Amino acid sequence: MATFPIRTYGDPVLRQQTFEVEEIDGRIARLAKNMIETMYAAPGTGLAANQVGVQKRVFVYDIGEGPQVVVNPVIKETDGEWTYEEGCLSVPGLSWPIVRPNAVHLVGVDLDGNEISIEADTLEGRVFQHELDHLNGVLVIEHLDDDQRREALKTLRLRTLYLGDPGETL
Ligand code: ZN
Repeated sequence: MATFPIRTYGDPVLRQQTFEVEEIDGRIARLAKNMIETMYAAPGTGLAANQVGVQKRVFVYDIGEGPQVVVNPVIKETDGEWTYEEGCLSVPGLSWPIVRPNAVHLVGVDLDGNEISIEADTLEGRVFQHELDHLNGVLVIEHLDDDQRREALKTLRLRTLYLGDPGETL
């Protein structure tokens, strides 16, 4: 097991598209294992593959019921509305109350290639939407209103000024 460095705001890989996993082989299993390790070390509730620089449609999460892996996830349906204070390992130290649908129906496959179909709400539903956003190159910042976004970008710019390029902080 090993941990990956987590890519942070400003790293272009967070904005790039990710690709469907065509074959679930040992490499994907290893990637998922190391992503889980990375998520726990951070610590975080979820982690998408492109947050560790891998452009594949895989995410891992643990909402307190043990680690889960979803390959090629798709959100089929959403319902309701829920406001939740949402942060992101790629935008460390910041969080905002974000409104999103409450319930989602997620489908995908697990590491054995079995189909997954999960109806989730509250935190689990939120994690699914957040990680799907990552895999589509979308950061939580894009859900902010104009004022919030301006503030957030100011904070992030200042941080880059003091700390150097993201990823080079010790
Ligand atoms: Zn995130």
